[in-house]
Amino acid sequence: MPLHDSAAVAASGVPDASGHFGPYGGRFVAETLMAPLAELEAAWRRYLPDSEFQRELRDELRDFVGRPTPLYLAARWSRSLGGARIYLKREDLSHTGAHKINNTVGQALLAVRMGKRRIIAETGAGQHGVACAATAARHGLPCVVYMGEEDTRRQAPNVSRMRLLGAEIVTVNSGSRTLKDALNEALRDWVANVDETFYIIGSVAGPHPYPALVRDLQTVIGREAREQCLERLGRLPHALVACVGGGSNAIGLFHPFLEDRDVALYGVEAGGLGLDSGRHAAPLNSGAPGVLHGARSYLMSDADGQVLPTHSISAGLDYPGVGPEHAWLKDRCRVHYDVVEDAEAVEAFHALSRNEGILPALESSHALAYAARLARELGPEGIILVNLSGRGDKDLQNVLEAQAVPGAAA
Ligand SMILES: *Cc1c(COP(=O)(O)O)cnc(C)c1O
Repeated sequence: MPLHDSAAVAASGVPDASGHFGPYGGRFVAETLMAPLAELEAAWRRYLPDSEFQRELRDELRDFVGRPTPLYLAARWSRSLGGARIYLKREDLSHTGAHKINNTVGQALLAVRMGKRRIIAETGAGQHGVACAATAARHGLPCVVYMGEEDTRRQAPNVSRMRLLGAEIVTVNSGSRTLKDALNEALRDWVANVDETFYIIGSVAGPHPYPALVRDLQTVIGREAREQCLERLGRLPHALVACVGGGSNAIGLFHPFLEDRDVALYGVEAGGLGLDSGRHAAPLNSGAPGVLHGARSYLMSDADGQVLPTHSISAGLDYPGVGPEHAWLKDRCRVHYDVVEDAEAVEAFHALSRNEGILPALESSHALAYAARLARELGPEGIILVNLSGRGDKDLQNVLEAQAVPGAAA
């Protein structure tokens, strides 16, 4: 199936030529980044629709990533909830354990086409860093990964994985020492080394064309899921659920369904310790429009426009911004954005592990928890599809710590 299938293009109609999704998106960067972004945009426009590029990408996704990922009926878990049937799109079975690699293999192919011989990346949960490191190794390209100090501690196994894959890890000690600070450092590196360097952004955030480029590479999730549903169930689900950090696994699943008005779309942000506590990472639910990392979108900021610190039990959702296309989908009410708190996500982690023999990523556990709520609402006739964005092996330490806190887990 072509990447730019007509349905997807019709559904988006965005971004416009200047990279705007309605009032969101755009390119708010230093002058020094304008030329490299224009060069990247030209490559995106030229190569993504190109049949030779697509053939190569399809081969990479099949042989290196392991696509298509299965559609799995979580039968025991669904029964235990007493409601709708819940299907899982098994991105956790992708090479390196999450959806992130769909994007890195595509951007790496662009890097090769553009003659860039060095890869840099930022990472939060470490999943994007691992995916970049693996992809760079596979192409014989050196790879530097920027990671906040706080995240290197929370995600130590992924730091080891990246090093074993040959990547150099640069620990970032500025700010809150998490993903947003790593992103700033990676942008700085790019400005300094732009001639030979390709910057692989890990989500649908950042300046144009990244939100559109990453989306195009992640829609393989939704295109496969749509086909699998029609083939296996003879119909589309009533609802799709995905967690939203930057928003790439969610937009990748949702995008091919945007024109299917009967399919309800739910994006789940990290409610952390509760919206009232201020300790969360839910810009769409409690933030306001502003500019962060080169694009206009919802973000968590105070009255003076200062970016607020965030909290989530899952490093991959611990980000104060969100991709601009989600901001636009929120304003147009096509996707409903809600929150799930840490404790409820941990509860869903345990429920899926015990009932299905699958350890989900804590990020994905937010989507699972929300699906459990929906399943009870929809009743036994309902069909829900959840994007299981990644596997939970990286999160074992956090889950064990959460259990040690009285009342934190059911
Ligand atoms: C990085 C990550 C996320 C969050 O990123 P999105 O761009 O919002 O998809 C979600 N789940 C997993 C497993 C991740 O690694």
